Amino acid sequence: MRKKLVVGNWKMHGSHSHNAALLAGIVAGRPFGCDVAVCVPFPYLGEVAVAWAGSELRWGAQDCSAHEQGAYTGEVSAAMLADFGCRYAIVGHSERRAMHGESDQLVADKAKAALARGITPIVCVGETLGQREQGTAQATVKRQLSAVIHALGHCVGEMVVAYEPVWAIGTGVTATPEQAQEMHALIRAQLRAATAHAAAMTLLYGGSMKPENAPALLAQQDIDGGLIGGAALKAADFIAICRAAG
Ligand code: PEP
Repeated sequence: MRKKLVVGNWKMHGSHSHNAALLAGIVAGRPFGCDVAVCVPFPYLGEVAVAWAGSELRWGAQDCSAHEQGAYTGEVSAAMLADFGCRYAIVGHSERRAMHGESDQLVADKAKAALARGITPIVCVGETLGQREQGTAQATVKRQLSAVIHALGHCVGEMVVAYEPVWAIGTGVTATPEQAQEMHALIRAQLRAATAHAAAMTLLYGGSMKPENAPALLAQQDIDGGLIGGAALKAADFIAICRAAG
């Protein structure tokens, strides 16, 4: 039985006062019967590390450099994230693939760099609306995942995969539980061909998950939790999703 995981992706939101209230609100909502994490903007890693130190709650970043160190202005290395106690790093979020031109290979290299420092990469995959309409959704996700499987080799089983259909992110449109489950089952089958640990791997769904739709999505056989954007910015909504997963 896989323990569920709910991860908040704050994106580029937050301020000292907002963060303090949100982090304290989540603490007050415990206990959750699932693992819970937030992935915050880099400058706020220090404050979540202080606020949640000693608790079972986890935190991480929203990206991670593929490079170890050096002349890479603006980049943040996995070693730096480890210094701040990060458990996770999201890599390959569709916003970075689309707006920063991140290729499948770069995403795979980032996942590898994170794992090398003991940080679990949350690797995002997902098709655009156009790809779904053209019937290439499955091929797209398969291609994105293949690059990471190839790069991680025998460590494949250590990543978390998040299926995030691009057309559902921040749009209020959610994949139906059946659509999400269908893709999750395909992802797990692809992982099964690569690692003996596939059955134990955590596969998250992301894309307009909210308290109202979370129970049906989380009830699906291969959906092991959620990657939550907008609803992670309000403690009450995030807590409700965590409870649905617990
Ligand atoms: C995300 O950014 O990963 C996400 C799923 O966003 P939202 O929940 O707002 O669709």
